[in-house]
Amino acid sequence: MIDSLLIANRGEIARRITRTAKRLGIRTIAVHSEIDRDMPFVREADEAVCIGPAPAKESYLNADRIIEAAMRTGAKAIHPGYGFLSENADFAERVTASGLIWVGAPAASIRAMGLKDAAKKRMIAAGVPVTPGYLGEDQADERLQREADAIGYPVLIKAVAGGGGKGMRRVDGAAEFSAALASCRREAVAAFGDERVLLEKYILSPRHIEVQVFGDKHGNVVHLFERDCSLQRRHQKVIEEAPAPGMDASTREAVCQAAVQAARAVDYVGAGTIEFIADASDGLRADRIWFMEMNTRLQVEHPVTEAITGQDLVEWQMLLASGEPLPLRQEQLSINGWAMEARLYAENPSTGFLPSVGRLSHLKFPDGIRVDSGVEEGNEISAYYDPMIAKLISHGATRQDAARRLARAAAGVEVWPVRTNAAFLARTLDHPDFRAGAVDTGFIERHATDLVPPAEPSERVLQAAARAILPKPGRDIWTTGSGFRMNAPSSREIGVEVGGAAYRVELHDEGEPAVTDAGVLFVDGEAWAYGPPRAGYAGGSAGHSDGAIVAPMPGRVIALMVAKGDRVTRGQPLAVIEAMKMEQTLSAPFDGVVSEMKVLADAQVVEGGILMQLEGDQ
Ligand code: ADP
Ligand code: ADP
Ligand code: MG
Repeated sequence: MIDSLLIANRGEIARRITRTAKRLGIRTIAVHSEIDRDMPFVREADEAVCIGPAPAKESYLNADRIIEAAMRTGAKAIHPGYGFLSENADFAERVTASGLIWVGAPAASIRAMGLKDAAKKRMIAAGVPVTPGYLGEDQADERLQREADAIGYPVLIKAVAGGGGKGMRRVDGAAEFSAALASCRREAVAAFGDERVLLEKYILSPRHIEVQVFGDKHGNVVHLFERDCSLQRRHQKVIEEAPAPGMDASTREAVCQAAVQAARAVDYVGAGTIEFIADASDGLRADRIWFMEMNTRLQVEHPVTEAITGQDLVEWQMLLASGEPLPLRQEQLSINGWAMEARLYAENPSTGFLPSVGRLSHLKFPDGIRVDSGVEEGNEISAYYDPMIAKLISHGATRQDAARRLARAAAGVEVWPVRTNAAFLARTLDHPDFRAGAVDTGFIERHATDLVPPAEPSERVLQAAARAILPKPGRDIWTTGSGFRMNAPSSREIGVEVGGAAYRVELHDEGEPAVTDAGVLFVDGEAWAYGPPRAGYAGGSAGHSDGAIVAPMPGRVIALMVAKGDRVTRGQPLAVIEAMKMEQTLSAPFDGVVSEMKVLADAQVVEGGILMQLEGDQ
């Protein structure tokens, strides 16, 4: 059995693994980058080794340094978590070649499933139903266009080496194909160093259904039922649940058996997930669920499976890596209740979900549910890594129960000054269509206006802010100084500043007391700076654009569509910036001419950095 473990990852998953290791009496070794020195996952491990500077390539992806750290600390095994090196077959081989135990899938299984086209070919051979499409070697533009036409639109172009929702383009008609192909290839090369693509029929009313599987070194494979991860934004999971709504027993049996068959076909050992895409236009039906890809690692959303099965999946991984047989047989596993997970991200829904980085000066998670987080108050969300702050996980007797609890928890999240999607999560979890189980991967986009909190403070926020600036009872609330002043006492109207803008609020008597901290108000998962109106505050919103095209977040300039002297029209795309898993296109705010270029393609820019200057038409 493993008695010491090096965890080659960071944040919440490193802490998650440490927790199980501690319970099993296993000594843990954390590896970390220079900027992660003071993070909780480092402190909680028995030992820690700094393996390099902040950029992941120089630390968390630095195989040499990680193996060296394992040797130096006498670790017996390496757990890669998810992301980073978890699906890197060469690394898995190096780990075992160094005499260490790899707590992950065998290198051969990772390779078999690593590229989406090869994996699908293998699954076809194994008799697993796969999404119809084109998997050919011929990558010529004309050939791909012809194949797409033959498949019939909409078509999905996917990078064969893709992952994390990147390198994918939906194409709705032949005319859009070549532009989408170019953009998909550009992203694929940048993110995965491989520009090859495959084509898939775009499934309408798509639901993402995945099955947790485990294999041991004795040839046994079991499944731990399905998860539904259809609530996605830009192909990235936001809310996951288990079991899947509307899944009947025979459909479950069929999809779970297909997953077991897929795992067997690659002699799978350890934890893995088989992802399927379902056409749910007529409910979930066994003959409309197709293999999409396999993730040969522990999944971000594994806690919902833990909740409904009562098993510790990291413990299973450790047992299987040590060569033990599966701890339970298929018939010993069953589903208990319903579980849901929401990913709390450092991003701002009202600016199109731009990442929000910085120090978590205030951070408070709700009580009463499982919270898997890598950060504590005072830690920093940096632009170097994934912007996930936490996973909130609820478990209830029924789906409604789990949803209600998770919605309440999301609404109770307090984070400042980093922006989060907490209010967006709460609104999604409370949405009547979500509650009715009417989910598919287009849900978020379709309901965006209901789900994204308005940029202006709601009446509830204004009421709470107004109440919060009221002086304590016993004082004359209508005449106290310090900026607060009644306009017309009879109407109980007071002035208050929220989010930098001044408002007049007619105060209602009812309403619960607001949660506030140092001039910040927390309501329904939203966070607003508030206070008495500043003297001389002029009001009004931001002025007109001065023509400076500014980076809204730190990142890399991946495309410049214009050059100095070019004439541009309002709304025309000028540049594309990439940061933290997303591309952001910057467009011209008015008609004019590019009077100055401040950056070259591929340049790194800081938040607020000027990319170019436009001069408006007279
Ligand atoms: P899962 O399939 O487990 O639900 P994802 O597909 O979102 O999760 O990716 C797994 C993890 O891999 C992410 O949480 C993230 O840490 C990492 N990851 C995925 N894509 C990227 C990327 N482009 N850059 C950095 N990390 C990534
Ligand atoms: P990744 O490796 O980035 O996770 P996947 O192949 O798993 O890529 O696809 C990610 C998401 O894209 C899926 O969860 C689903 O929402 C959507 N998707 C993938 N393939 C299809 C398809 N053929 N039709 C419709 N949606 C799809
Ligand atoms: Mg996937």
